[in-house]
Amino acid sequence: MKFGTKAIHAGVEPDPTTGAIMTPIYQSTTFAQASPGKHKGYEYARTQNPTRKPLEAALAALENAKYGFAFASGMAATDTIIKMLRPGDEVICAQDMYGGTYRIFTRLFSEFGIKFHFVDTRDVANVKAVLTPNTKLVWLETPTNPLLEISDVQAICQALKNEDLMVVVDNTFATPYLQNPLDLGAHLVTHSSTKYLGGHSDVVGGAIMCNDSKLAEKLHFLQNSCGAVPAPLDCFLLLRSIKTLHLRMEAHNKNAAIVAKFLETIPSVAKVIYPGLESHNGHELAKKQMRGFGGMVSFILKDDSEEAAFRCLEKVKVFTLAESLGGVESLACHPGTMTHASIPVERRLEIGIRPSLIRLSVGVEDVEDLTADLAQALR
Ligand SMILES: *Cc1c(COP(=O)(O)O)cnc(C)c1O
Repeated sequence: MKFGTKAIHAGVEPDPTTGAIMTPIYQSTTFAQASPGKHKGYEYARTQNPTRKPLEAALAALENAKYGFAFASGMAATDTIIKMLRPGDEVICAQDMYGGTYRIFTRLFSEFGIKFHFVDTRDVANVKAVLTPNTKLVWLETPTNPLLEISDVQAICQALKNEDLMVVVDNTFATPYLQNPLDLGAHLVTHSSTKYLGGHSDVVGGAIMCNDSKLAEKLHFLQNSCGAVPAPLDCFLLLRSIKTLHLRMEAHNKNAAIVAKFLETIPSVAKVIYPGLESHNGHELAKKQMRGFGGMVSFILKDDSEEAAFRCLEKVKVFTLAESLGGVESLACHPGTMTHASIPVERRLEIGIRPSLIRLSVGVEDVEDLTADLAQALR
């Protein structure tokens, strides 16, 4: 089945009791048993839920995975993956990553005896350089948040194929429509479904997909034991959202490419960061690894100060100044003081999060209104 057909149909069957086309929101926490242990596949709603099950099947299908798990948030999914490790284990991760991931690694799990090495994963040699017998996990984000750096998932997986470790890719920015890390050799793929999978800025969720039955067993154990599961209504909203993922991503791709090219013509803009631009250092790799360049665009101003960025962000009208991304509406944010405030300022500068860096989540409005809005805000 091709992607659009999967997005609309995967995991979903008409409800067996009523024929309802849309999966009902099953709020029931418990399910009747005919005899102890004899039931219709559902016992207790933390363990399995009839609204969550089709969502998990749909999530798996989108990533060409055998198994899918839905979580209450992207961070709950991250938390679950790190709980597969033990004290003494080491993790190699991308130096530019979502601020909340950086925070849970450095401020929570490092206290539990897990060691994190942050390296520039764009070069496989940097990953190999910090590899030890204790390395159990490699955490990649590509494109990264907010600098949109591209790492070569296939090359990294290939280089590590004889090591006893898992490669995880946070695929939130690319979405399964543009990139499938499991097909490139990754063991796990994770998403904040709050972003493009949800797509309408009205549901918080997370997901993990994999092909290995042993990993799936561990994930289900943790999902059930720790209980960070999404509510039935949230599962319903995500099931509905996924049906238009391919349509929305095409529109995001198109608008973001136009916005990025437009920003390059603005005199007060020093640098535009978008994997679809030839000037982007990961452009060739992105062309190979992805089926489109996504809806995120970052840029730096010639007047490289927070004040200059704030002046622009206070003036936008069609774009909304807000955290988060991936919704149909366009958002603009200042990563340094918003999404990435939990990363110390020296560290931010080291990895390239400049004071004037602005990150756009380009929505699916008419693009002329978006470019006109940016033009007036940057005047
Ligand atoms: C938002 C985000 C997360 C965290 O997800 P939540 O749903 O907010 O918990 C993780 N990774 C990336 C790349 C994100 O953008």
